[in-house]
Amino acid sequence: METESTQLKNEARRQRAYPTENLETRSLEKPKESHLNMVHFKFDCPHCQTRNSHFSGEENKINASKSFDSKPRGVVAEMPITCSSCKSISIGYFEGIERREMLQLLDTNQFQYQDLIFQLKTTIPKMPNPTCPEHTPKNVELAFIEAENALIARLYGSAASGYRKTIDRAITPLVDDGFKTKMLGQKLGNLQKSQSLPQTMIDWISIVKDNGNYALHDDDRDFVSEAEIMPARQFTLTLLQYLFTMPEEVKRARAAIDERKQAS
Ligand SMILES: [Zn+2]
Repeated sequence: METESTQLKNEARRQRAYPTENLETRSLEKPKESHLNMVHFKFDCPHCQTRNSHFSGEENKINASKSFDSKPRGVVAEMPITCSSCKSISIGYFEGIERREMLQLLDTNQFQYQDLIFQLKTTIPKMPNPTCPEHTPKNVELAFIEAENALIARLYGSAASGYRKTIDRAITPLVDDGFKTKMLGQKLGNLQKSQSLPQTMIDWISIVKDNGNYALHDDDRDFVSEAEIMPARQFTLTLLQYLFTMPEEVKRARAAIDERKQAS
């Protein structure tokens, strides 16, 4: 049985939980200016890649979601949201969830507005998800994805040394045994001698190497733009496709031809 003081406490809680006058409605009515409030929650930022970054949005900017035909399933509302780490703005897409109980605890990606809980489902732009060319060995893929993530996060120096590490790991199986633990420059010398890669590839590898060395050793000037990193990135990608993806594709294409021959 509820005592009088419990009832009073519950009423106070209800007042806090339902701060607007429109207790009965489900519509997303705009609060009056005097009720303007910020809402806060956590999510991964697609701009600076901070995981679980703090985000905020203005309650009066919540709109019923209608701007995109392809809006995610279950999404009812959208709102501009600002990342506290990089100050960039994204559009947040929210699902509206019925509150199960008055004092239901909220998850970190949720906030309450009127009598609904809003849960952030996705953002535009979306969180980038770097991928690696197919059939790349695990250790090479790891270095490549690390470099890609650094590039997305605008850590250009880390990206440059990451692509260098990627090509180093990618060519190591090609060099003679005595060179496998040597420096990248020595591995390149060995490859040149054995002619196991075309000269253009060797030249490009040495550019990615120098780019990475520059990021590691030269502190007079740093990489400041994506454009400075893109040639090394593009070549690293091409090298992985050439070394790991293409041989498998060739095998597959050859098998398909042989199958057709047998069938005829
Ligand atoms: Zn951010």
